[in-house]
Amino acid sequence: IPLRVLGSCFHVAMDGIAASEKIFKIIDTPVIKEETKEMKDFHNIHIAFEDISFSYEKNRKTLEHINLNIENGKITALAGVSGCGKSTIANMLMGFYKNYEGKILLNHKELRSVDPFQLRKKIHVVTNNSYIFTGTFEDNLKIGKATATEKEMHEALKKVNLYDFVMSLDKGLKSEIKEEGANLSGGQCQRLAFARALLYDSEIYIFDEATSNIDVESEEAIMKVIYELGKIKTVILISHRLYNVRGADRIYVLSKGKLKEMGNHEKLMDQKGVYFELVSEQNELEQSGVENYA
Ligand code: ADP
Ligand code: MG
Repeated sequence: IPLRVLGSCFHVAMDGIAASEKIFKIIDTPVIKEETKEMKDFHNIHIAFEDISFSYEKNRKTLEHINLNIENGKITALAGVSGCGKSTIANMLMGFYKNYEGKILLNHKELRSVDPFQLRKKIHVVTNNSYIFTGTFEDNLKIGKATATEKEMHEALKKVNLYDFVMSLDKGLKSEIKEEGANLSGGQCQRLAFARALLYDSEIYIFDEATSNIDVESEEAIMKVIYELGKIKTVILISHRLYNVRGADRIYVLSKGKLKEMGNHEKLMDQKGVYFELVSEQNELEQSGVENYA
C-alpha cells in the first residue's frame, strides 16, 4: 500500500506538523508480528499518571502535578478549553515525550521501560487529522487488520455510517480513493479512519477531538460506537464538546495544565465549578446557534 497521504484528508492544524511527523515515523516503522510475553501482559490495561509534570519548553509548564486513573472497561474523558493540555496527555501516553517528572504506569510498569513497538500495538489513536492513504477502501481498512474479512469490513463501515456510501460506488470496497481525496469529504475520511480503528484490536483507544469534522448524524453513530468500545477496552475520550463526554464514567477537567475537577457528569454539575461553567457556556452558545465554538 503506498503510504501517500491525501491532502484534503489531512488537515494540518496548530501543533499538527510535529504530530504528523510523529505519525509518519510510527506508520513507517514495520509492525512486529509475534506477540511477546510482555505484550500479553498488557491486557485489561490500567493506566496511572502519578504526579506528572511536563514542559515542552524551558520555563513554561504544560502539565503540573497531574494524577489520573484510567481503567479498563470504562470511558475516561479529558475536558477543558483549548490549550489546557488534553492532547499533551495523549502524546505522553503514546510515549512521544520521556522527559517528564512523576510516573506513568501501565499495569504498574513505568511507560519509559515499555518497548515502543509493543506500546504502539496496544494504543490506537483517532484524531481529527485522520490519515487516509491512496489505494482502495479495502487497503485502508486492512491497515487496521490485515486479515479482515469482507464481512468484518462491512460491519465496521456500517457502524460508522459509511457502508451505504461505499456500496453505492461501482467497485464497493475495491473503489479507489483518489489522490488529494477528491472523492471523499473530510467527514468521510474521518469515518473511514474510525472504521479502521474498530478493526485494530488495540487495548487502549484514544479519541482526540475525533468527531470534530463529522456531521451530527454520523457523530451520534460514532459516539455510540465509542461508548460500546468503552465497555471492553480502555478508552480515553477527548472532546471540547462537553455534550459528547456527558456519559463518561469519569471526567477529568483541566485548566492551564492543572487538574481542577474529577467525577461523572452529575457530580461535576452539582459541584458548580469549572465543568459546570463550561457546560453552561456551551449550552448558551448552542442555543444562540453558534456552531463551531472552541
Ligand atoms: P489541548 O489539547 O487541551 O488543546 P495541548 O495539549 O495541545 O492542549 O496544548 C497544551 C499547551 O502546550 C498549549 O499551550 C500549547 O500551545 C502547548 N503545546 C502543545 N504542543 C506543543 C509543542 N509541540 N511544542 C510546544 N508547545 C506545545
Ligand atoms: Mg488537543
